[in-house]
Amino acid sequence: MAEERLTVVIAARNEEDALPRLHPRIRSVLDRLDSVASRVLYIDDGSTDQTWEVMQRLAASDAGVELLRLSRNFGKEAALTAGLDLVAEDSAVLILDADGQDPPELIPQFVSAWRAGHDNVYGTRVLREGEGWLKRATAHGFYRVIGRLSKTPIPADTGDFRLLSPRALLALRQLRERHRFMKGLFGWVGYDQLSIPYHRESRIAGRSNFGAWKLWNFALEGITSFSTAPLRAATYLGLLVAALAFVYGVVIIVRALVHGDPVAGWPSMMTVVLFLGGTQLVALGLIGEYLGRLYEEAKQRPLYLVQQWMPAREGVSSGTTDTAGASHAHSEAVAGRQAR
Ligand code: UDP
Ligand code: MG
Repeated sequence: MAEERLTVVIAARNEEDALPRLHPRIRSVLDRLDSVASRVLYIDDGSTDQTWEVMQRLAASDAGVELLRLSRNFGKEAALTAGLDLVAEDSAVLILDADGQDPPELIPQFVSAWRAGHDNVYGTRVLREGEGWLKRATAHGFYRVIGRLSKTPIPADTGDFRLLSPRALLALRQLRERHRFMKGLFGWVGYDQLSIPYHRESRIAGRSNFGAWKLWNFALEGITSFSTAPLRAATYLGLLVAALAFVYGVVIIVRALVHGDPVAGWPSMMTVVLFLGGTQLVALGLIGEYLGRLYEEAKQRPLYLVQQWMPAREGVSSGTTDTAGASHAHSEAVAGRQAR
């Protein structure tokens, strides 16, 4: 039987304390997998602490580790994209958080699901440890809203913890949009999906990169990337307000005909003007959200820039490549894929 290949992809930003604790766990799990040639690819997403040095130490002691360093912080979604672009075409990929919240001990379960023929195996959180009720409640609300609004099926309580078969990965790579709502992109790809319930653990070290404001923007990103329902809602809101205004107009005319037309109604006038002004601004802002994203898309900038790439030493003849050569080769590879 031909040996299957699996690449574990981990995006990390300021995870100097977590990585040394996570890596041995991944290593021991991968060592126990039968007939799977595995690699671990770490992406340093513009960390400001010692993460890159820590990664280099891991690569020095483990020949199956591959490193990628982006030129600055591009955000988790872009960092993951950079990693996925680098994975060999015949390899499946497993995405993991660097902070140990997604337990690597579940990897064998993902791999058996893949062997059973599933292309898109995702972990669904049944329990979230170390996260406050507010985060849990808003996350719950978000998944329900996006589930209703989006035509693409986006499974609830599912993060980036998942395994993609080679063909699902190839499909995902074709989606080059700038505003990358990964949960949605994974869902868009489709194929044979399977959910694996798991307990989301607390971070093993460090602090979450996602505060409340970032999460709110993330939610907006998700909704605007995968649904135009808000635009339609604006239309209906406009229709509703117009209908109310019409009824109110009739009332005013009838009242004026019956009782004459004494100059009054300043409060009602102000109410109507302010209400209309408010709804118009909301609708404009909504259009602006979409227009802004269209603008970002139109610029066609690359999704990320690579500063350094260190291929795994295992099975690779050349060792560490020099910075310029590596990033050149890599951007060419990416350009080639984008052209497809
Ligand atoms: N991450 C990243 N780039 C960023 C922010 C986060 O690569 O700009 C990584 C981070 O190192 C971690 C994962 O994304 O591996 C999830 O981030 P975090 O744990 O901070 O988010 P949370 O689990 O709290 O939602
Ligand atoms: Mg986390």
